[in-house]
Amino acid sequence: MPELPEVETIKNELLPHIVGRQVNGVTLFWEGIVRQPSVEEFCPCLIGQRLTGLARRGKYLLFSLTSGEVLIIHLKMTGSLLLKPASTEADKFVRAILHLDNGTEIHFRDPRKLGVMWLVKDVDSVVGKLGPEPLEAEFTPQLLAKRLANRTAPVKALLSDQTFIAGIGNMYADEALFAAGVHPLRPGGSLSSEEVEHLHRAIQQVLWSAIGNKGASVDTYFRPDGTLCTAHFQFQVAHRLSGKFCPVCGTPIERIPIRNRGTYFCPHCQPET
Ligand SMILES: [Zn+2]
Repeated sequence: MPELPEVETIKNELLPHIVGRQVNGVTLFWEGIVRQPSVEEFCPCLIGQRLTGLARRGKYLLFSLTSGEVLIIHLKMTGSLLLKPASTEADKFVRAILHLDNGTEIHFRDPRKLGVMWLVKDVDSVVGKLGPEPLEAEFTPQLLAKRLANRTAPVKALLSDQTFIAGIGNMYADEALFAAGVHPLRPGGSLSSEEVEHLHRAIQQVLWSAIGNKGASVDTYFRPDGTLCTAHFQFQVAHRLSGKFCPVCGTPIERIPIRNRGTYFCPHCQPET
């Protein structure tokens, strides 16, 4: 699933090509991709508007429009946004196309049909409940400590909870916990202040490093130009198949389910107590 580094990469790479462009048309191959408003309203509301900006909040992309409305896209498990020359034949997994006025198109490709688009005036109606952005100045070790305090849920579950902290999912939660030497099942409130500081630093390092590698191409994720990303080559534990060994100590990586998500960790470098 695209997480913060992948969505940030899409934002950075689409931005110079789309700002100031007018949406000349919308093609929907799968109407279920439109969450709000109705499909009948969505296309006419979008057509004729200019894209005035593109931002990211958590795993959401926010395209601002001349009307003051915002087109919000969530790629969910398997979505990608591909920038193509006009009249490129859409492959069978493309669910929607935005036709721009400069001879390009944005193809919303999504094999599992889980991705969503909203066209809203009030952005907070979609993203208002998200937790802090982990790469913003407001996200300090003190803030992380405050949010972890008294929490009994496993720290892995908290890190991938979008209302706890925005943008981190299964992959980068595993990577950050490994880098911090924290066992994923530790209750959030049990971390010492030193461990919280390590975790804070690990979260930022893991995310910045992945952004530097333009995200990770796990499953079906592509950059807007259709190329793959390379962050997954740097993964220490995430998505390691059974039989792989910890790159630090050589212990076999373990996989356990936490809230139904496969969680990878090193039992030696991330002790449970
Ligand atoms: Zn290890």
